[in-house]
Amino acid sequence: MENNSLMLLQLVLWFGISLLIGLWAQKRGRSFGLWAGLALIISPLLSGLILICLKNLKYLAGKKACPRCAELVKQDALVCRFCGYEFQAQQGLHETQSKELPQSNVH
Ligand SMILES: [Zn+2]
Repeated sequence: MENNSLMLLQLVLWFGISLLIGLWAQKRGRSFGLWAGLALIISPLLSGLILICLKNLKYLAGKKACPRCAELVKQDALVCRFCGYEFQAQQGLHETQSKELPQSNVH
């Protein structure tokens, strides 16, 4: 039954890629369950494409817009790397937020 094993392979691939989409979405600051589910229901490829088109939330979260040139620079930056604008030292933000999530749920 070569047909059956081929279908099984496709099914495994479908699930595998859907899980990867979910993990990828999570890395981009989005919901794992939502995107893994979306990939399963619609199509892993299609949801992957949608994910590419959407803005990376984590990327935006760690950035601030320069008031002078409006470019995005890192949140911790003191000087804009585009135009050299000096940001005023932020008060009360001494402690850098290190909320790195343990990614040990995948073995
Ligand atoms: Zn600037």
